[in-house]
Formats: sequence, structure tokens, C-alpha cells
Amino acid sequence: MVTHASIDNANPAPLFPLFADLRGRGVLVVGGCDVARRKVEALLATGAEVTVAAPVLDPALRQWAGQGRLHHRGDVFAPAWLDHVVLVVAASHDRALDRMVAEAARARGILVNVVDDTEASTFHMPATVRRGRLQVAVSSGGAAPVLARRVREKLEADLDGSFGVLTELLARERARIRWCFPQAGKRRRFFERLLDGDLPRLLRAGDEAGAKIAFERALNEPDAMAQRGSVALVGAGPGDPGLLTLKALRALQDADVILHDRLIGPDILELARRDAERISVGKRVGEDHDATQARIHALMLQHARAGQRVVRLQGGDPLVFGRGGEELDFLRAHGIAHEVIPGVTAAIAGAAAAGVPLTDRRHARSVTLLSPRGQTRVDGESLAAPGQTLAIYMGVGELDALSRSLIAGGREAGTPCVLVENASLPRQRTLAGTLAELPALAREHGIRAPALLIVGEVAAQAQRATRVERCRGEPSPVAHAA
Ligand code: SAH
Repeated sequence: MVTHASIDNANPAPLFPLFADLRGRGVLVVGGCDVARRKVEALLATGAEVTVAAPVLDPALRQWAGQGRLHHRGDVFAPAWLDHVVLVVAASHDRALDRMVAEAARARGILVNVVDDTEASTFHMPATVRRGRLQVAVSSGGAAPVLARRVREKLEADLDGSFGVLTELLARERARIRWCFPQAGKRRRFFERLLDGDLPRLLRAGDEAGAKIAFERALNEPDAMAQRGSVALVGAGPGDPGLLTLKALRALQDADVILHDRLIGPDILELARRDAERISVGKRVGEDHDATQARIHALMLQHARAGQRVVRLQGGDPLVFGRGGEELDFLRAHGIAHEVIPGVTAAIAGAAAAGVPLTDRRHARSVTLLSPRGQTRVDGESLAAPGQTLAIYMGVGELDALSRSLIAGGREAGTPCVLVENASLPRQRTLAGTLAELPALAREHGIRAPALLIVGEVAAQAQRATRVERCRGEPSPVAHAA
């Protein structure tokens, strides 16, 4: 007799992972509910000849049966059903029936999966991530399917669609690659250099034409395949690592060199590739900003020319109130391959933190991002009309002047405002008041940069949204004018 020995909890043998070609092969699924339907769907995708045995079918299964995509049988199970079957899934939820099916399968040496019954199963269906032909399957050996699904979700996020495109490209070019590199060792080295080169990055950026050129170059001039350097202008968001985009994360994990603003926190830098060189290029108050910017340009050029992948990492979005525009001009002028990966800018993060809908249609018809610094002096008159939301960057040192010029321009002294310091970070503070009283309030509470000021009728909603008292006698993170 065959013993039920698939899982010995004290000393489990590892399951053998395999990817099976089921095209045209018979698979029997016993059960007609939604669980069976999910298994059937996965099986149909492989081209298997699926038979579903159940007295009643779930609507989708019924539809597929009607379309001839699967065979349906409603009679009573008999072991002879297994005659031309290579796999069996028992999903009837009738334990006695499932076990009987499993026993019949075992007796014939056919692999069987019994849903939610590791002991009776001789194969498991893993959690999978599919990108075209590329598949990753995750199994906990039946110990914790939810954990396996969590791992799958992480992989879902890590493996973007470009992996599928890359796999397809390599499949298409397989014969040519073999012809160019008949020797297995040379072929392997070609693949390694190809995957270390520009091709994956270009596909990730959606540049299929560039990727094709990179591939042809690699194939025709393998010795010249030295990686071309590149620069990514990457937005790191407001500070919470959870607000990085997946693209930003990937760029950090691919980087050779990271040129980062001084304010980028350690928990974001920690996510970067371990051996990436990290260079702080932040500007400090009182420093010569043009000299600092010239140094940033020089570093981008030097490292990109040396064939390295440079990430220029800036807080928020790289093209909002930074010098991203000048950096782009510089990269274009020097013919350096580059891309921009946007980030969550402070206005968006500050609004979320304070619970302010910037464009609430009942109160606002526009949002203006502005800064009183540099060449962008605030023109009080043009911003005076009600119904305009202002998101003001770099304004902490200028609150008095800002408030005065907006009121002098005609904006109501009682216009609601909210100031968000360190939006998204654990030390975030939110201060709500009116345009007239805000400068004094900010002084009283010692608000310091980085802080974002939101002015406009919509800011009234901050009071409601953020009136959160902390427990255990800690000071409230939200202060309000009476
Ligand atoms: N590129 C950045 C802005 C750089 S200018 C972005 O898109 O967000 C720097 C100003 O941004 C700061 O003076 C402050 O006004 C704002 N800022 C940046 N991070 C912030 C944060 N976590 N909380 C509040 N304001 C922030």
C-alpha cells in the first residue's frame, strides 16, 4: 500500500519544484465551486485538456463547458476516469470524496492535489508570478500558504512587466544568439554582460527601440559592450520610505553611484544596493549654491562617462522646486542617457498628512505650487481671489512677508491655512490657523524647515481631519488657533 508520507512535520523532505508541460494532457478536477474554478483557470492557461467533475458548476465553469473549453461530467466518480489523466485536483470539499479520489490517483501513480489537505496531496499548486514566459513559483510546502502569497506579492512588485518583454526578446533571438556564440561558455558570458548592461534598464523605461539597438550592438560588437553610463533623476518622496515609487526603488537597487540631497534619510538610503557609492551633495544655507550645483553636474558626468549607473536622488519630485531642470539640460547637452522617475512632491504629501483635499471642487478651482525664494517672488494680487489653493514650498523663513503680501493683495485675513512640518515622517507636525495669525503661531511652536504651507478655503478641512489627541499625555501633534 502507498503510505501518506508527503509531509512529515517533524522532518519534512523538500518538495521537488517542477514546471510541467500540460499541453494536450488530461487533467481531472473534481469539484465545481470557485476554488475549483481558480485551479481550472490556471490549468486551462497551460493548454491542458481539463475535465471537471461535479454535479453543479460555478457560472464561469458552466460557461467554459458551454464553449467547449473543458469537459464536464456530472456522474459518480469511478477510478476509470483516471485512465488518460496525468494530474488530478480534488476540490470537492467533500473530504471523503476528495480522499477517495486521492487514493485512486496514488494507486495509479498519478500526482494529486487535494485542496487544503497537504497530507493527502502528492503535489501542491504554488503561488506564482508570471511575466510572459518567465514564471516564479513560491511554496511553503503547505506550512503557510498565506506566507507564500505574501512572498508572491513582494515579487509581484519587484518584477515589473519589462521582465516579460525581456524574456520574450531572448526567446525570439535565441537562434541568432546560438549562431553567434556556438560555445556554451561564451554564450553564457554574452548573456551575463547583456543582462548587466543597458538592455534591462531601457526595457524598464519602456524604450523598446533603444533596447533593440542595445541588443544588436551587444550581438555584433560583444567586446564593445561595456555598459553605457546613465543618470536617473529620481524623486525620493517626502521622507517616508513607503512613499518611494517602485521604479525609484528599482533604480536605487541598480545604482552604482547615488548623488543624494542632504535631507534624504538613512532609511531610504538603506534600500539602495549595498555597494552603491553614496555621495551627499546637499545644499546648505549659506553655501554657494551655484558651486554645489556645478559639483553635482561634474559628478554626474564623471560617473556616467565611466559607465556607471548614477541615481540623482532628490526629495519629493526631482522636477519640482529643485534644480532638476538644469540637471536635465546638462544631461541632454552632454548626450548622457537619462530618465526621470517622479516622486510624491511635498504639496501632495503635506495635503495627505493634513487631510486637505487640494482641489475639493466645492471650494477650490486651482492649485498653485509656489515658493517665495529665488526668482519666484509671491505676487499677492494674482493669488488674492478666493477659490485658489496655494501650496507654498520653502516658506518657513518668510511667513510674515507671505502673509502680509497675500493680505495686502486682497486675500481675506481669515483664509484658512495649514502648515505641515516633516510631512510623512514620524516627527510630522501640523499647525492650522488663519492667514493673519499663522506667522505668530509658527513662531510660537518653533516650526522649522522642511515645512509646507497650504493656504486656501480647502485648508479649513485640516482642522477636522487632524484633530487627533495623542494618548498618554504626549503633546498633541496638531495645534490649533482657538
Ligand atoms: N523637490 C521637492 C521640493 C524641494 S524644495 C518636492 O518635490 O517636494 C524644499 C521644500 O520642500 C522645503 O522647504 C519644504 O517646503 C518642502 N518639503 C520637502 N519635504 C517636505 C516634507 N517632508 N514636509 C514638508 N515640506 C517638505
